[in-house]
Amino acid sequence: MLIKKGIEDLALFNGKPAFAVPRSTSNLLQPDIEKFLEYSKVFYEQGQYTNNGPNVRLLEKRLAEFHEVSHCITFNSGFWALALTMSVLALEHRSEVVMPALTYRRMADIAAWVPLKPRFCEVDPTTLAMTRKTVEPCINEETALILGVHPIVNGCDVEGLEQLSDETGIPLLFDSVESVYEGLAAGKVGKFGRAEGFSLHACKLLNGFGGGYITTNDGALAQKLAVLRGFGFSGLDNVVLGQGMNAKLNEIHAAMALASLDDVDAQVERNRERYQTYQRRLAGVPGLRLVAFDERYPTGYKNIVVELLPSWPLSREITIALLNAENILARSYYAPPLHRKVMAFPHVPADLPVTDRLAEVFINLPCGHRVSPADVEDIVTILEFMAKHADEILEKTRSGSQG
Ligand SMILES: *Cc1c(COP(=O)(O)O)cnc(C)c1O
Repeated sequence: MLIKKGIEDLALFNGKPAFAVPRSTSNLLQPDIEKFLEYSKVFYEQGQYTNNGPNVRLLEKRLAEFHEVSHCITFNSGFWALALTMSVLALEHRSEVVMPALTYRRMADIAAWVPLKPRFCEVDPTTLAMTRKTVEPCINEETALILGVHPIVNGCDVEGLEQLSDETGIPLLFDSVESVYEGLAAGKVGKFGRAEGFSLHACKLLNGFGGGYITTNDGALAQKLAVLRGFGFSGLDNVVLGQGMNAKLNEIHAAMALASLDDVDAQVERNRERYQTYQRRLAGVPGLRLVAFDERYPTGYKNIVVELLPSWPLSREITIALLNAENILARSYYAPPLHRKVMAFPHVPADLPVTDRLAEVFINLPCGHRVSPADVEDIVTILEFMAKHADEILEKTRSGSQG
């Protein structure tokens, strides 16, 4: 890596970027191409490209085994997997879904398609996750569904939410997109609530180019979802359900997802090495706190989330601008939170002081297939350099002399 001698070497001040090729927070897993081609030949030779072909059937079987559930239904995206499952599970004649605001930026849009009105709940300040306690005040006569969303490091309060769902009779669906590999105190992710939703987008742990799936132990639900994703058809031109969609996963995506699934244990091992490099190096950087994975249970080590403590000498905005200029594509963690976004659809206005505070202080750092442990060393070296020269940096940005 290029050694930075003074702040004029920082790319934001017209120095040469530390990385010629951007390092991002996207996973972009590249499984073995031979495996991908092997799976692809199966559907190609059979001439079946979609509609429950051989790879989709195999993928659903393997994912059900992986998550230790009886059913897996694949979709063309995590978005439609969740939207269609929400539409099936939501209690009739009720209008609201409870979800956190500190979460995936399109989560409220998913609810809007059902349609359900999002009511945003707080999260726990330590785990960054929704809990029974933060959801309970949001329950009312209009609550049709609880959407339990895991944060991107560790899981949410699965047991508490299941209890609340049992007591109130309000169905519970999990968005487990960022928790594919996780185990929790209550067991392996995939079998909780009425169902759980996952994504096969290229930026997630399992790369199917794009796609999604639902896991459940409810056979009737699985059957309904299988019909809904295929236009609502049951047999030739017999539309059985009103809200059908074309949301099927096609065979080439399933082939890629299968190749990714074959690689998942090896990938997690590589993720662990990246994470441990961050952990070792960031321990020596005052003002930065790496959000730790709970290693008592299996975890995918996929995402790198860092808190900027009050002792970190630069604002988050400047920190991210400096990093991005170096082609280190750090981003702010789930900011703005959903309740602060402009929404062109009905939603319940929310006052969420904990979420507002948390949404100001975390960043995501590069991770995934294209980031090597040596890259991680270099990224932390740049952060150290920024902290050491913070006064000069602030002076230069204040005087607006960035050229
Ligand atoms: C990416 C993501 C989704 C949506 O998945 P797609 O397959 O991209 O539609 C849903 N929830 C969470 C938490 C996500 O990160």
